[in-house]
Amino acid sequence: MEETGKNEAGIWIDSPLLRHWKDFLPWQGETFFEVHNPATGVLLARLPQLGASEAARAVHSAAKAFAKAQGRGEEPALRVKWLEEISALLLEEREALATIITQEQGKPLPEARAEVDYARGFFTYYAGNGERLLASRKVERQGELQWEVHPRPAGVVTLITPWNFPLAMLAKKLSAALLAGCAVVIKPSELTPLTSLALFSLLQRVSEGALYDPATVGDTEAAHRINLVFGDAAAIGKVFCKSDAVRLISFTGSTAVGRLLSEQAAPGLKRLALELGGNAPFIVFEDADLEIAADALISNKFRCAGQTCVCTNRVYVARAVEKEFIALLLERIRRLKVGDGMAEGSDFGPLINRAGYEKVERHVADAVAKGASCILGGGIEPPPGEAQESGFFYPATVLTGVTPEMLVSQEETFGPVISVAAFDSEEAAITEANNTPYGLAAYFFTRDPARIGRCTRQLRFGHVGVNTAAGPAPEAPFGGMKESGYGREGAEEGVLEYCELQTTVRR
Ligand code: ADP
Repeated sequence: MEETGKNEAGIWIDSPLLRHWKDFLPWQGETFFEVHNPATGVLLARLPQLGASEAARAVHSAAKAFAKAQGRGEEPALRVKWLEEISALLLEEREALATIITQEQGKPLPEARAEVDYARGFFTYYAGNGERLLASRKVERQGELQWEVHPRPAGVVTLITPWNFPLAMLAKKLSAALLAGCAVVIKPSELTPLTSLALFSLLQRVSEGALYDPATVGDTEAAHRINLVFGDAAAIGKVFCKSDAVRLISFTGSTAVGRLLSEQAAPGLKRLALELGGNAPFIVFEDADLEIAADALISNKFRCAGQTCVCTNRVYVARAVEKEFIALLLERIRRLKVGDGMAEGSDFGPLINRAGYEKVERHVADAVAKGASCILGGGIEPPPGEAQESGFFYPATVLTGVTPEMLVSQEETFGPVISVAAFDSEEAAITEANNTPYGLAAYFFTRDPARIGRCTRQLRFGHVGVNTAAGPAPEAPFGGMKESGYGREGAEEGVLEYCELQTTVRR
């Protein structure tokens, strides 16, 4: 632990992974931002607020590293080895990483461990399949000319990630970008930057500093394969969008920021991969196994306290089974315990901050004002005090009689709120489910095979769960339709995001 004064940078989580954090942040700004534990309010860190000039230096460092790799004709086999090493390190430091995730993000420790495992899955998958995915392929064509297609690394890529999965969202991007052969600048959320710093302390161990060499800390001409910057997100984002060296911006976050980045990146015709907000419907037909559907909804809805982009946001239940299904839900929800993620037995933790808490409150109040019934939970009176930076625990809440004009139907609530509407026909359910500009995840439950085919085809969502609310996996491409963005993560499609295809024709 470091002792520092009130206006100095420091990290007050006692973890071996955070002890040498200054090695990864060579640039000490003059202003700082603070990171608090959302469950306890404890000050975890005060970090330098980096901005445009630091972002430009990070891009420069990545560009130099990329040029060096190109110059020496780097083989995918070398990068596969890096991924294997990272996968092994994530396993070795699983507990240390999970502890940091829980403290800065708030999710229960078992969920944080699952996040580390999930993140590791991407490195393992790309290590195991990398050489196959990047292999050149011959084009079948008659004649004396030979045609081939080669996936080439896109170049410098910047990865902007959110706070709900501080490790996993970064792992998905970083594993694919490194495999492709890119050089990287990482910009994590300022709400959860400590996980990235901890990850850096692992990454610098890879192949004796091949990705990051702390010996060159502060050297303005350093060439790091991976670089980290955070602080003034808007200023950093502008540099990423304007810099000629940056070829791709991969972003996971809100649709509003995704749209802003695409506007800013348009003049340079920069490629974007955007994983944006969702508004996931969850449809329970009258012929569904209601127990399976209720279990699936609970595990999907309360993960990360309802703060994931694949979390169910709208539940549609066939009117004939509505009462029965709600009874099954209530029975399960009453057993859930909300509490500090570090405490044994907490099923879900606090919301990330005051703004998150107030959004959930606003949504619930709006629904009730427009005629919904709040049959369980609702905001706590009085809400957390003005000065308090913690304890944003929102209780598990169930709303019934929800209608399309309510905020809970239109926007992601991002909290532990289940909003239920009844429907009378399959057609009405599908129409209502698709009645959103978003298209990330959707789930439905039925025993009828013909209905499964019909509904799957009609749902305009990139990820559709049938009789399950399982989330994404490294082996399958994941991404959105419509305003949930474009680009895919995981699988072959995920690594091709970070490649440019080069076709060669030779005599
Ligand atoms: P959320 O509302 O879930 O926090 P955001 O879209 O605001 O989602 O944040 C996702 C990521 O985008 C974070 O790393 C955040 O710092 C970053 N971000 C926010 N505003 C900008 C911006 N103007 N330019 C670039 N990145 C931004």
